[in-house]
Formats: sequence, C-alpha cells, structure tokens
Amino acid sequence: MRPEVTVVRLGHRQQRDKRITSHLGLTARAMGANHFVLCGDDDEGVLETLSDVTENFGGSFTSEHQAKPMGFLRHFAKQGGRIVHLTMYGEAYDSVTNDIPTDAPLAVVVGGAKVPGEIYKLADYNVAVGHQPHSEVSALALFMSELLGGVAGPEQFTGARLEVRPHPSGKVVIDRKTDSDSS
Ligand code: SAM
Repeated sequence: MRPEVTVVRLGHRQQRDKRITSHLGLTARAMGANHFVLCGDDDEGVLETLSDVTENFGGSFTSEHQAKPMGFLRHFAKQGGRIVHLTMYGEAYDSVTNDIPTDAPLAVVVGGAKVPGEIYKLADYNVAVGHQPHSEVSALALFMSELLGGVAGPEQFTGARLEVRPHPSGKVVIDRKTDSDSS
C-alpha cells in the first residue's frame, strides 16, 4: 500500500536556505510525497516555486507554511499519522524502513539549523541514512526511495503540461498546451 507522505522541513531561514529548501520540496515531490510543510520563515518564494513546478509538470503535490511545527506534528499523530524523523543518530534506514506501516499517513521530518530535542521522542521512528552528517536532500531522497521503491513514476504526475521524453542525446519536452516538441 502506498502511504500518503507529508515532508516537514524544520527551521527554514529565508536568506540562507532558499535554494536548499526549494530543492528539498522538489525532491519530496519527485520522490512521490504528497505534501510539503515549510516551518521557520514563511517564504512565499519557496511555496511558489513548488506550485509552479506542479502546475507545469503535473500531479497534485501541495505545500503550506506552518508557524508551529510541534503543534502540527502532535495533531498529525493524534489523527493517527506516524512520524519519521531523519537524523544521523537514528536506526539504519535500510533495516528499519520495512517496519514502517504504510496504511497510515506518514510525516517525514527533516531538520534545519536547529532540531528541537522533543522531536526524537515524538517520532515513531528516528531513521539514519548512514551515521555521517550530510544533507537533508540526500537523506530524504534515499529514505523515500527505500520506502516507495524508487522514484515516483508518471502515474504520480497526471495532468502535466510539460512532459519529458527520455532521449540519449538531447532535450525532448512535449508541451501539451502548444502540442509541439521543444528542445
Ligand atoms: N544542525 C542540525 C543538527 O544538529 O541536528 C543538522 C543539520 S543537517 C545539515 C540537516 C538535516 O539533514 C538533519 O536535521 C537531518 O534531517 C538530515 N540529515 C543529515 N544527515 C543525515 C543522516 N546521516 N541521516 C539522516 N538524516 C540526515
């Protein structure tokens, strides 16, 4: 069963993290998550980037800002959702991911500058992608791949205006609005 996945980004700083948080949201979408929750600074630019990409490349991915992440996560858990916290201090992702039930919504939490200690207790699973510090983007991609079995397929991106046609030596994009190939 494919779980409903919400990726929660803690502690976004508009100036410093603009690019990496946008990449995190795009990675969440491309890997098959349904929803993205931005915490920390309320950065319209990040949310707009994500909705523009969904408008052009399809699917039903949504995003929002939440000022109170802990309240959001407590509510999520109360409603029956499960919380996965990605942290280098957790259990190895390639052994624990199979134990995560997929019949309830999942919130996948990734840190930013400062991760509140309470998250470790609130989480049902603290999951490490290796035990070295690296990036929230790489941790999310590898975890999602393990959880859902690879990157999301085209069925996840219905209604796309732009569709990439794989090609060995160039860029081929179908634009459904103009119904012509562009390269
Ligand atoms: N300064 C933060 C702290 O002390 O917890 C960590 C910052 S790290 C660049 C940002 C986020 O990337 C972490 O909160 C975690 O979600 C994720 N991350 C980094 N390395 C990871 C790993 N080896 N396994 C799982 N997640 C990881």
